[in-house]
Parts: sequence; C-alpha cells; structure tokens
Amino acid sequence: MTRRMSLDVQDACYQEVFAEWLEETGGTAALWKRTAPVLLTTPPPMSSASRTSLPDQQEVEAAVRTLLRWTGDDPDREGLRDTPGRVARAYREFFAGYQENALQVLGTTFDEAGDYDDMVVVRNIRFESHCEHHMVPIVGMAHIAYWPDKRVVGLSKLARVVDIFARRLQIQERLTSQIADIATALQPRGAAVVLEAEHLCMTSRGVYKPGSTTVTQRLLGVFETDALKRQEFLATLYSTRTTGAIHGR
Ligand SMILES: [Zn+2]
Repeated sequence: MTRRMSLDVQDACYQEVFAEWLEETGGTAALWKRTAPVLLTTPPPMSSASRTSLPDQQEVEAAVRTLLRWTGDDPDREGLRDTPGRVARAYREFFAGYQENALQVLGTTFDEAGDYDDMVVVRNIRFESHCEHHMVPIVGMAHIAYWPDKRVVGLSKLARVVDIFARRLQIQERLTSQIADIATALQPRGAAVVLEAEHLCMTSRGVYKPGSTTVTQRLLGVFETDALKRQEFLATLYSTRTTGAIHGR
C-alpha cells in the first residue's frame, strides 16, 4: 500500500491538510479513502482567498440592521443600537469552527496505548451547533467511542473536535459522520459516534414539537462489524443515563 496517493481533490485547502495528515500520522491510503468522502463534502476550513473576501464589520452590522427592520422593530431605538455589533461578535463565536482544523487537533498529540485493549467511551459532550437551513441552534450531547490500536489521544481533544465541527452550519447527520470519520485519524480498531440533539427549528418554530430529540449514529470498524462490541458500546451509553440528559435532568 502506498503512503502517498494522488488525490483527486479540487480543494487545494484539503490537499494540503491531508498531505500533512498522511505525513504526521502515517495514515494509510485505506483510511484516507474511508475518511475522505465525508470530509470532502464538508465546508472546508476557510482558505486564505475566502478570508480576504469576508465582509467587513460594517457590512455585517448593516445586514443585522436589515433583519431588525424585518422584525418590525426600530434598529435606532436605544435598546437595539448596539445589537448589530453584538450579533456580529456572537456569530464569530458560533461559527469559529470554520477557521479551525480538526485533523490537526487529533494529528499532533498521540500517546502509546500501552497494553490497554478495550473501548474508550466519552459520554455527554455537550455541543451547540446551528442548522444550515434556518441558522437556529441545535443543542445536544455527543457520545464518542474508539477502540485504540496503537494510539490514544487526550480525551479533551475529542471534545475539541466536536466543537470544531459543531461551530459550523450543520445538519446532524453530517456532524455525526464528520466526528466519526475524523476519529479514524487515530487509526483505531473502531470508532463510534452517537449524537442526541434538539433542533430549535423544530421545537420553537415550524411544527413546534418541544422535547423531541433526534438521534444519529455512525459506527466504524469493529463497532460496525462486531455485534457484541456494538452492543457493549450502546449499553455503556444507555446504562446510567436517561433520555433527558441533554436538559440536565
Ligand atoms: Zn433547521
């Protein structure tokens, strides 16, 4: 198997990222193939070209003023005067994930797994994202498992990865896939991701179904092929938590 492969990738940004990834992690072509399709449909980390074409603060504030007028309110009244600036700053925070690279988070700090040979499960990683259809919040919990082969990663790194992908415009299915696929950078025997989330576009508008949550999962490697390990993972998830976990009940 060749370490290097010619990448049929349009986006120069990704070519660069994956070249680095192959270099740093010793990633294999097989893993690349597994991981690439989903990552390539991801809005990429911002390239320097798109960064220079970003609207400036003034344009953003003008857009928010337009939205304020759209509500029927007066953007010049005292309570709203500073709102456009605040909204611009809030958006910076909500969508900071476009400027971060999740592969680098997992790709730099590996430790030896030693003789540990079992799954590692991190449960209840709270995340906040925004749906790409309405730009309203998706709030939920991520649960991540991987079965290390040679490498383990600091657990906080997994939470960082969740945040990086969550802080972009998303649909829950893609967010789930991205987290699971990026975990293959650890070259594990398997990776599994379950997300349970409330979509405010569904609970506070539209069909108005408060309390409804959506569960998505992606199982790779041993979690996909080995029914027993899959069951063990799901049992670990549901053993001590209730469906109200995302509301902290
Ligand atoms: Zn939506």
